[in-house]
Amino acid sequence: MTTHARGVPAVADPGIPAGRSAIVDLLVLGAGPAGCAAALRALQLRPDARVVLLDAAAFPRDKACGDGIAPHGLDVLRALGVPDAVAGYSPVDRMRLRTPGGAEVATPSRRANYVVPRKIFDARLVAAARARGAVLLRQRARSVVTGGTADEPVVIVNGDLRARVVIGADGANSITRRSLGIGPNPPEALAIAVRGYADAPHTPGPPEQLIEMTDEGWPAYAWSFPIGDGRANIGYGMLRSKLAALPGDTGGRTVLHGTLARMLPEQPAHPGTLRAHHLPMSTWRPRQPDGPVLLAGDAASLINPLTGEGIYYALLSGSLAGAAATTATPAQAGAVYRRALDRELGRHLRHTALLAGLAGRRRTLMDSAVRAAGHRTELYDNLIEIGLGRGTIPTASVARLALRRIISTRP
Ligand SMILES: Cc1cc2nc3c(=O)[nH]c(=O)nc-3n(C[C@H](O)[C@H](O)[C@H](O)COP(=O)(O)OP(=O)(O)OC[C@H]3O[C@@H](n4cnc5c(N)ncnc54)[C@H](O)[C@@H]3O)c2cc1C
Repeated sequence: MTTHARGVPAVADPGIPAGRSAIVDLLVLGAGPAGCAAALRALQLRPDARVVLLDAAAFPRDKACGDGIAPHGLDVLRALGVPDAVAGYSPVDRMRLRTPGGAEVATPSRRANYVVPRKIFDARLVAAARARGAVLLRQRARSVVTGGTADEPVVIVNGDLRARVVIGADGANSITRRSLGIGPNPPEALAIAVRGYADAPHTPGPPEQLIEMTDEGWPAYAWSFPIGDGRANIGYGMLRSKLAALPGDTGGRTVLHGTLARMLPEQPAHPGTLRAHHLPMSTWRPRQPDGPVLLAGDAASLINPLTGEGIYYALLSGSLAGAAATTATPAQAGAVYRRALDRELGRHLRHTALLAGLAGRRRTLMDSAVRAAGHRTELYDNLIEIGLGRGTIPTASVARLALRRIISTRP
């Protein structure tokens, strides 16, 4: 439920340059990939728009993440006029997938990924948004209230910042989302993962990203992504529901740190680099409400449930939200954005939810898929597209898989 307050006076904020009205066109809460993409797209469409990016952290800032940047995210950034977000980092075109059943594949991908520490990647995006005219304010958003009238709403943040449209890009614990009356994802659609930095493995051949799945708490996996500077980003993640179901009363931290150390014994984490964070999966997405408050990225639960990838979806949804904020009236912005998101990602999201449901129940499905992908390049490419981009299940297989799901969920 959105809170309504009427007649709140405009209060000038010293962070907004002189000459700009205190009621800004767009206030973006959170300056991660979703927030920066929103600001960049809004200013691309309307260079004279008054856009403010608000973040609680000072940039450059760390973010617990695998740092894996899929090529699809770079496509979005290129379209936003940011071609150099991964400059200086080498492409990694191999991803080695290993399943608990012993299936393994490491075919070169059609398009390479990059591994760029978020401290650098996100700071580059913020710099690009500022260079285009966005004003960056360091402030924690604590309240988001919609006032004004139904036809001309005004959104008030922290009691004094006023905007025609607000985009909540404030991540997995989004305050914007809470202000809309939307709760967090349930444990079966919420993962938790720990990330650290370690020495990169000394393996012969070209560098490759490793994803090692495990039976413990299935679906769960550890990863090791070489950065190219002698280090690798390592980590391990699982669903909260599976963590809660583990026997004994071992704390989450002990399980995550212990499993990571056990699964990647050759790569102990550098001291002080382990950090955990939640991943709201797209298997439980809130409905974007009509009106002037939009949710993008993790705040909208847009993380791929098969891989934990979220940067591409954050960039894409942020960009779509930024477009809706500038092209639609504030009263209609939410509805316009909801339809755009559904056009772009609806089918992909439905198919990944179907696959995640099946794979979660039957681990052997993942074994078979990875084994088959080892023999057929087009299947491997399709698997990568589904896990990292907007890939969908081939039409011929949808009905068969849907039927399997019905059978596998029967008591
Ligand atoms: C351990 C781990 C590994 C992952 N690995 C990968 C990977 O390899 N590749 C991938 O694509 N995805 C990965 N993800 C997912 C990815 O990190 C997220 O999907 C992505 O960061 C979402 O971007 P965002 O802009 O929506 O949110 P965020 O990147 O979380 O940015 C949110 C911003 O909002 C700010 N903020 C939060 N609350 C407030 C507030 N109240 N007021 C003001 N500012 C606020 C924060 O400071 C932050 O800057 C991983 C996630 C985790 C936890």
